[in-house]
Amino acid sequence: MSEINKSGWKPEMFEERRRGDETFTGNKALMLEEALIFEIGDIHTTGVDFADAPPAASRLGGLERVRNIGLPGLSEPEAVRHYTRLSRQNYGIDLGVFPLGSCTMKHNPRLNEKVARMKGFADVHPLQPVETVQGALGVINELAFWLIDLTGMHGVAMSPKAGAHGELCGILCIRAALEARGEGRKVILVPESAHGTNPATAAFAGFAVEEIPANERGRVDLEALKARLGPDIAGVMITNPNTCGLFEPDMKAISDAVHEAGGYVYCDGANFNAIVGRVRPGDLGIDAMHINLHKTFSTPHGGGGPGSGPVVLSEALSPYGPLPFTERHADGYITLVEEETAGDRHPDSFGRMTAFHGQMGMFTRALSYILSHGADGLKQVAEDAVLNANYVLRNLEHVLDAPFAGSGPCMHEVIFSDNGMADGFSTLDIAKGLIDEGFHPMTVYFPLVVHGAMLVEPTETESKAALDQFIGALRSVAERAKAGDESLKTAPSFAPRRRLDETLAARKPKLVWTEPEPAVAAE
Ligand SMILES: *Cc1c(COP(=O)(O)O)cnc(C)c1O
Repeated sequence: MSEINKSGWKPEMFEERRRGDETFTGNKALMLEEALIFEIGDIHTTGVDFADAPPAASRLGGLERVRNIGLPGLSEPEAVRHYTRLSRQNYGIDLGVFPLGSCTMKHNPRLNEKVARMKGFADVHPLQPVETVQGALGVINELAFWLIDLTGMHGVAMSPKAGAHGELCGILCIRAALEARGEGRKVILVPESAHGTNPATAAFAGFAVEEIPANERGRVDLEALKARLGPDIAGVMITNPNTCGLFEPDMKAISDAVHEAGGYVYCDGANFNAIVGRVRPGDLGIDAMHINLHKTFSTPHGGGGPGSGPVVLSEALSPYGPLPFTERHADGYITLVEEETAGDRHPDSFGRMTAFHGQMGMFTRALSYILSHGADGLKQVAEDAVLNANYVLRNLEHVLDAPFAGSGPCMHEVIFSDNGMADGFSTLDIAKGLIDEGFHPMTVYFPLVVHGAMLVEPTETESKAALDQFIGALRSVAERAKAGDESLKTAPSFAPRRRLDETLAARKPKLVWTEPEPAVAAE
């Protein structure tokens, strides 16, 4: 046994800390340190008191476990404190501005949560007979109609469970459509500024990926794209608005050129909150686009919660979409079109993305968000998202280099570069300085087309007062980086941890706890 006691606290820890001018406990006022559950718990403690099981003959045929599995236990109050302390070490949208570019970390209306928890939605089982789940199927069906209506597309596949999963669904539709034409087109074109999931998806579906360059205005270089089109090009994957926060004004011309050359147009719709209610992707000639319900229609994906990535499809691709889908009959009754019930009506479907129908909880949240905003409210979502980002841009462009500010307003997010920092100072220092100011940093070093990129998405749900405070903090940190303030190099100074080796943490995560070697007694 190691010498670790129940509080996870060892006398040596104090000696180490005192040298670093720290407190006896390691806590800093209300910022509490918390050891791993393996360090504070033990296998003999439990929060529940069961009577011993009566003896029974084993039916395991000699395969009984012979050793304890070593899961640590805590009493109930200890367990409550452990997880409450851990929860306080998190930053979330309910605490403050969360300007993580591309992620749409906006307020999640509580009404959504109330609706998602209604028993008729929360407690249904995917294998229940359809006549007992008409309400839940009605939600899926109505949401599907809204998504088709808002995007001006022909059909929608509701089952993909994340944006990246939706990308795969859309690309598999394209592959199926090409196979049906008997064509072996093998290349997907992806702009330099694309989200990493785009090339990953295309490669995963068996395509070769080639980059399309950006022009000096941060948009797809239309002439370079046209020059590359030909009989080997299966399609393009384009994000619009793109990850520089810019609208692709040539989108229709791009779609026309790709169609002309026999390819398909995939649009990454993760940034749909910038144009919802204002622009219909279907009018831009798009063949497939995923919608991140967990971005555009609230419920941001902080904390690793579930996502949902329905894919809207053009008339050309709809026949290849996955099963199952809902079908509403004239009398209002809804049935499911699945392998057994599809008959000969959906012969070209590429198959299935998920065992059942998708993320029910996300469907109810998204529909409740859509219905509470209405069509006019959704249009205002896009307008406010764009207004807020431009407010940030115009308030900071004199302090931070904004590479595309000259080419007009941005969309829902604004991009800055590390140009103009003092020698040795970079984007990372600014991000870490923001932590001391109590903000989650913006997206950094993405997209790659901008040096030392800082991508800020304020979202439509921030008030002017909240934006002013964020702008003030970012301006102050940026001015320190320009003045070469050395204290910024070690920021964050007020957080429980300073600079971590993030690369090491990502490449070699320590996922298994091993009991430390017992200390050798001195005598
Ligand atoms: C978030 C995002 C994705 C991926 O969506 P997930 O739901 O995280 O899989 C793809 N593209 C862009 C531009 C995004 O912002």
